[in-house]
Amino acid sequence: MGKVGETTLVLDLSALEHNYRYLRSRIAPTTKFMAVVKAFAYGSDMVAIAKKLESLGVDYFAVAYVVEGSLLRNAGIKTPILVLHPLAANFDEMIDRCLEPNIYSLKILEQFVSTAKTKKQKDYPVHIKFNTGLNRLGFQKADLDQMAAQIKDCQEIKVVSFFSHLAASEDPDEKAFSNNQINSFLALSDELAQKLGDSPMRHMLNTSGIINYPEAQFEMVRSGIGLYGYGNEAAVDAKLKPIATLKTIISQIHEIPANESVGYNRAFKSERARKTATLPIGHADGIGRQYGKGKASILIHGKKAPIIGNVCMDMIMVDVTDIDCAEGDEVIVFGPESSAEQFASSAQTISYEILTAISQRVKRELLNE
Ligand SMILES: *Cc1c(COP(=O)(O)O)cnc(C)c1O
Repeated sequence: MGKVGETTLVLDLSALEHNYRYLRSRIAPTTKFMAVVKAFAYGSDMVAIAKKLESLGVDYFAVAYVVEGSLLRNAGIKTPILVLHPLAANFDEMIDRCLEPNIYSLKILEQFVSTAKTKKQKDYPVHIKFNTGLNRLGFQKADLDQMAAQIKDCQEIKVVSFFSHLAASEDPDEKAFSNNQINSFLALSDELAQKLGDSPMRHMLNTSGIINYPEAQFEMVRSGIGLYGYGNEAAVDAKLKPIATLKTIISQIHEIPANESVGYNRAFKSERARKTATLPIGHADGIGRQYGKGKASILIHGKKAPIIGNVCMDMIMVDVTDIDCAEGDEVIVFGPESSAEQFASSAQTISYEILTAISQRVKRELLNE
């Protein structure tokens, strides 16, 4: 990796390929793979990631919103795209861009069919979501009769998959709950398949589900975080490679005498003489204020430098009293050598949050395209 002159998120596409191949090795060769690239591919670079995965033969993409799917279509992505959380306001655009909706309620079904009618669609692919315990989006058993009746005499749409989502796939203490979700998904799928006289694909597993519930992979799995190199547990992390390294440089070094303060609200006080480094990255870049006041550390020449005082919008200050470093030296916020999961856990959050927080202001650089 070359030196950077400004805050940069370096994305290693060979690590992405490694992760994709690893996750595929954990499922049957016939099981399809849906790559979840919502939220700019977990804060990385949605178009670059999707192009690479498309070249590797991924079967499906998933995004959260229509706007994300349109960005992929604008970039020439041809692979089918499931929109996990479509809203009726975007149904016109959804059909224009060949994006496939998650149908999660009777109201959404009715609204989508009405748009599909207006736009003279036939057999437009849709995906039916069941709520099996997450209690977020999806149909319940009590909805099945009415839903099936509505779908059955409707030429405009065609159900291409049934799916559901586990609430705690990474948690070994919730195995009974997860198995219950899987069983109720199977029962709902069987019942609806019978009512419709059709057996679409079924998918239920996210990354940790692929690892912990391989028996429930059915016809397709949906993976996000694993593709980006994080597996929610040490044994899986060891097999994956974080694709992103967040780097920056030291803008200025200060020798702070005892009894001074550093930063806004004077949140850091020097009880003895300190050396600090100011870095060009702040909460507007995704490093939230929860990481300040000594919680998180960054790496300079392999040594940990804690963030001191409050995180500013465009800067942080770190303690480099015991680190031999100079202005212009490279700094690693997180990456393979110092994981985003570790950084996140220093402030009681998760890899997903810090990764997706990295703002669009931060330059992206692609490695091994
Ligand atoms: C985000 C999301 C996923 C991906 O989960 P990971 O834990 O990142 O693999 C899968 N399914 C649904 C419904 C999601 O919202």
